[in-house]
Amino acid sequence: MNHPDCIFCKIVEGKIPSTKVFENDKVYAFKDLHPQAFKHYLFVHKSHTRDVNDLILTDGNQVADIFSAIQQVTVNEKLDQMGFRVVTNMGSHGGQTVFHTHFHLLGGEPLKGFGR
Ligand code: 5GP
Ligand code: ZN
Repeated sequence: MNHPDCIFCKIVEGKIPSTKVFENDKVYAFKDLHPQAFKHYLFVHKSHTRDVNDLILTDGNQVADIFSAIQQVTVNEKLDQMGFRVVTNMGSHGGQTVFHTHFHLLGGEPLKGFGR
């Protein structure tokens, strides 16, 4: 079920342009508009959920679908060699601004944060 007012649903449907980095029947991944690292991609399930807790209650298998896509992209782009970070923001304290569940993949350079 997709959501008429959701910008990431529109990106998945091609109604808003994006730079695709991965697609299969379940998952779509694209470059973040405002990259926070040398490489910054967003991974979404094609089926709309609001946030990661909503996603787990809807269909926990979607996490595996998304992380399988992340595994393929990080190996293809050799991000697995030096490492990378995956983040999902949830709600106001988490800093979530788009309410279609998404996982940020950050890499391509040493990442700051988490005490560094
Ligand atoms: P959040 O803050 O919800 O965790 O992450 C939302 C992310 O979506 C942000 O990093 C923001 O730059 C990105 N973003 C918002 N609108 C668009 C858009 O229309 N296209 C793309 N490619 N990224 C977007
Ligand atoms: Zn959506």
